[in-house]
Amino acid sequence: MLVEAFLGVDSPQSVPELLEAVTDRVPQSSLYRNLAVLCDVGVVRRLNFDEGFVRYELDHDITEHHHHLVCSNCNSVVDLDERTLEKVEAALARAEVAILRSRGFAVEEHQLDLRGVCAECR
Ligand SMILES: [Zn+2]
Ligand SMILES: [Zn+2]
Repeated sequence: MLVEAFLGVDSPQSVPELLEAVTDRVPQSSLYRNLAVLCDVGVVRRLNFDEGFVRYELDHDITEHHHHLVCSNCNSVVDLDERTLEKVEAALARAEVAILRSRGFAVEEHQLDLRGVCAECR
Protein backbone atom coordinates (compact mmCIF):
# COMPACT_ATOMS: atom_id res chain seq x y z
CA MET A 1 0.00 0.00 0.00
CA LEU A 2 2.81 2.38 0.87
CA VAL A 3 4.70 1.69 -2.34
CA GLU A 4 1.46 2.25 -4.27
CA ALA A 5 1.00 5.57 -2.48
CA PHE A 6 4.45 6.65 -3.67
CA LEU A 7 3.78 5.53 -7.23
CA GLY A 8 0.66 7.69 -7.47
CA VAL A 9 2.40 11.02 -6.77
CA ASP A 10 5.15 13.14 -8.30
CA SER A 11 6.53 14.65 -5.12
CA PRO A 12 8.30 13.46 -1.96
CA GLN A 13 5.73 12.65 0.73
CA SER A 14 5.52 13.69 4.38
CA VAL A 15 4.14 11.31 7.02
CA PRO A 16 0.75 13.14 7.18
CA GLU A 17 0.46 12.89 3.38
CA LEU A 18 1.26 9.17 3.48
CA LEU A 19 -1.19 8.64 6.33
CA GLU A 20 -3.88 10.30 4.27
CA ALA A 21 -3.08 8.06 1.29
CA VAL A 22 -3.40 4.87 3.33
CA THR A 23 -5.99 6.23 5.73
CA ASP A 24 -8.26 3.82 7.61
CA ARG A 25 -6.11 0.92 6.52
CA VAL A 26 -2.80 1.50 8.29
CA PRO A 27 -2.33 2.81 11.83
CA GLN A 28 0.35 5.50 12.28
CA SER A 29 2.65 3.25 14.32
CA SER A 30 2.68 0.64 11.60
CA LEU A 31 3.26 3.34 8.96
CA TYR A 32 6.43 4.43 10.78
CA ARG A 33 7.55 0.83 11.23
CA ASN A 34 7.02 -0.02 7.57
CA LEU A 35 8.74 3.19 6.42
CA ALA A 36 11.78 2.27 8.54
CA VAL A 37 11.89 -1.21 7.02
CA LEU A 38 11.50 0.12 3.47
CA CYS A 39 14.33 2.62 4.12
CA ASP A 40 16.57 -0.11 5.57
CA VAL A 41 16.20 -2.31 2.51
CA GLY A 42 16.71 0.62 0.11
CA VAL A 43 13.21 0.78 -1.37
CA VAL A 44 12.44 4.18 0.14
CA ARG A 45 14.78 7.04 0.95
CA ARG A 46 14.53 9.92 3.42
CA LEU A 47 14.81 13.49 2.19
CA ASN A 48 15.49 16.53 4.33
CA PHE A 49 14.47 19.93 2.96
CA ASP A 50 15.05 21.75 6.28
CA GLU A 51 11.31 21.94 6.96
CA GLY A 52 11.57 20.48 10.45
CA PHE A 53 10.34 17.09 9.24
CA VAL A 54 11.52 14.54 6.70
CA ARG A 55 9.90 13.48 3.46
CA TYR A 56 10.09 10.12 1.77
CA GLU A 57 10.21 8.92 -1.81
CA LEU A 58 10.97 5.68 -3.65
CA ASP A 59 14.69 5.18 -4.04
CA HIS A 60 16.17 6.37 -7.33
CA ASP A 61 17.21 2.78 -8.12
CA ILE A 62 13.48 2.01 -8.36
CA THR A 63 12.14 5.19 -9.94
CA GLU A 64 14.80 7.18 -11.74
CA HIS A 65 17.44 9.70 -10.87
CA HIS A 66 15.76 13.10 -10.62
CA HIS A 67 15.78 16.48 -8.91
CA HIS A 68 13.29 18.54 -6.94
CA LEU A 69 11.84 22.03 -7.07
CA VAL A 70 11.37 23.38 -3.55
CA CYS A 71 9.19 26.47 -2.97
CA SER A 72 10.53 28.63 -0.15
CA ASN A 73 7.12 30.29 0.27
CA CYS A 74 4.60 27.43 0.51
CA ASN A 75 7.19 24.63 1.03
CA SER A 76 5.80 22.57 -1.84
CA VAL A 77 8.28 20.03 -3.22
CA VAL A 78 7.80 18.53 -6.68
CA ASP A 79 9.89 16.36 -8.96
CA LEU A 80 11.47 18.18 -11.88
CA ASP A 81 9.59 17.22 -15.06
CA GLU A 82 11.27 14.93 -17.55
CA ARG A 83 11.89 17.49 -20.29
CA THR A 84 13.57 19.97 -17.97
CA LEU A 85 15.45 17.14 -16.31
CA GLU A 86 17.06 16.24 -19.63
CA LYS A 87 18.39 19.79 -19.98
CA VAL A 88 19.71 19.83 -16.42
CA GLU A 89 21.43 16.47 -16.90
CA ALA A 90 23.05 17.63 -20.16
CA ALA A 91 24.33 20.82 -18.50
CA LEU A 92 25.65 18.88 -15.50
CA ALA A 93 27.34 16.31 -17.76
CA ARG A 94 29.21 19.16 -19.46
CA ALA A 95 30.14 20.65 -16.10
CA GLU A 96 31.40 17.26 -14.89
CA VAL A 97 33.71 16.97 -17.93
CA ALA A 98 35.00 20.46 -17.20
CA ILE A 99 35.63 19.53 -13.55
CA LEU A 100 37.54 16.43 -14.60
CA ARG A 101 39.71 18.50 -16.95
CA SER A 102 40.39 21.40 -14.61
CA ARG A 103 40.55 19.64 -11.24
CA GLY A 104 41.23 16.02 -12.11
CA PHE A 105 38.15 15.15 -10.04
CA ALA A 106 35.97 12.40 -11.49
CA VAL A 107 32.34 13.10 -10.54
CA GLU A 108 30.42 9.87 -9.99
CA GLU A 109 27.05 11.21 -8.89
CA HIS A 110 25.27 14.42 -7.99
CA GLN A 111 22.38 15.56 -5.84
CA LEU A 112 20.62 18.77 -6.69
CA ASP A 113 17.45 20.43 -5.44
CA LEU A 114 16.43 23.84 -6.68
CA ARG A 115 14.90 26.35 -4.27
CA GLY A 116 12.73 29.22 -5.39
CA VAL A 117 9.13 30.41 -5.65
CA CYS A 118 6.54 28.17 -7.32
CA ALA A 119 4.18 29.40 -10.07
CA GLU A 120 1.22 29.54 -7.70
CA CYS A 121 3.04 31.64 -5.10
CA ARG A 122 4.48 34.00 -7.75
ZN1 LIG B 1 4.75 27.88 -3.46
ZN1 LIG C 1 20.82 14.72 -12.05
